[in-house]
Amino acid sequence: EIFKLTSFLSLSLQAKMSRPVQAQRLEGTDKNIWVEFVKLAATYSTVNLGQGFPDFPPPDFLKEAFVRALSGENHMLHQYTRAFGHPPLVKVLAQFFGKLLGRDLDPMTNVMVTVGAYQALFCCFQAFVEEGDEVIIIEPFFDCYEPMVKMAGGTPVFVPLRPKAPKDGKLMSSADWQLDPAELASKFSERTKAIVLNSPNNPLGKVFSRGELELIADLCVKHDVLCISDEVYEWLVYDGKEHIRIASLRGMWDRTVIIGSAGKTFSATGWKVGWTVGPNQLLQHLRTMHQNSVYHCATVAQEAVAQGFQRELELYGKPDSYFVQLPKELQRKRDWLVQSLDAVGMKPIVPEGTYFLVADISKFKSDVPDVPDSDEPYDSRFAKWMVKNKGLAAIPLSAFYSGAHKNNYNHFIRFCFAKEEATLKAANDILQKWKQEKTSP
Ligand code: PMP
Repeated sequence: EIFKLTSFLSLSLQAKMSRPVQAQRLEGTDKNIWVEFVKLAATYSTVNLGQGFPDFPPPDFLKEAFVRALSGENHMLHQYTRAFGHPPLVKVLAQFFGKLLGRDLDPMTNVMVTVGAYQALFCCFQAFVEEGDEVIIIEPFFDCYEPMVKMAGGTPVFVPLRPKAPKDGKLMSSADWQLDPAELASKFSERTKAIVLNSPNNPLGKVFSRGELELIADLCVKHDVLCISDEVYEWLVYDGKEHIRIASLRGMWDRTVIIGSAGKTFSATGWKVGWTVGPNQLLQHLRTMHQNSVYHCATVAQEAVAQGFQRELELYGKPDSYFVQLPKELQRKRDWLVQSLDAVGMKPIVPEGTYFLVADISKFKSDVPDVPDSDEPYDSRFAKWMVKNKGLAAIPLSAFYSGAHKNNYNHFIRFCFAKEEATLKAANDILQKWKQEKTSP
């Protein structure tokens, strides 16, 4: 018996793997800001303005469409659908984006449905980026671009938006963060395969102007570069600003993939329905990636999103349209949070779009002493301290910078304002109380 036990033990020891199991392409991509900060928020926060999701429900017409899809007569909606997108959804997306872009789109070849915008991005990098290719990313950026480029074997090349001081007495705007044209041009070379554009931009809320987009477009055409255009916040644009689609600029349709998300468009981030729109010669490679990875996304969710778009197509530009109402509502929330942050001295950068805003924490630094030789950027330690000690969750701006640049702008944090009034008021109460504690020792 003892012999059996020892041989079993030595066998199981031998059976343990000793060689590295992880593929090299995962090197350096194991850390993820969301895993860390979502856990912190769940453990400590009483008010969560961290991760980007609304705490209000999606519109009734969308929820009703989901319920109809789920419990209606068409039980085939519980089964597989077409791999590249449920036919009713690709059809209405083709109609909708055809109208926005002023061109005829073929639902079968110019549109592909993905598991959120996240998977659309992943498909793009995997399908287009070759070992050694460079991909230009504008900082600050939605954090997943960098690991996704690296996992595809590419090299991210970063170019920053640089802040200009606002006019005297004015709050800074996301429009004050601009590309330096010469610096941007210097990043393009024969190794450049693609540029990632995110307008409206997460985390700053910057909405790129026509001039800025033309600058990018001209460089793309000159260097024969692709544009991966992440437009998930396309409807969330304020103060009468216009969201301009880079694909509509001269020479850009053939080299651009537009990425969108029902999560952002209809305030239903958990549904994970996204899409790509572009020319067939690009989308055909995204289809190859998609069919060999996820194959397709949940049919009922696609059916409901299709009905949501059908409604929006009929109400396009009318006051009842959700795409008209949502930005109005969010602009009010933005203004409220801007005012609330300004009142306590946490200077906000007023965003032109998205449901995020970035605020300057310099005046609160004395509460969270610096640790001079820490590897962790100051804003990250600040955000952790804030959630643990004040119960308020936000995301450090350094999370949206590449490793080498994380300390360039490390005194800002990002708030999400797609929240119920009560949530924003609770955040305001925390900040007010904090300010009083600071001034009356
Ligand atoms: N792009 C940007 C700029 C985002 O902010 C997000 C979500 N935070 C995504 C893509 C991913 O969108 P989805 O939830 O549809 O995967």
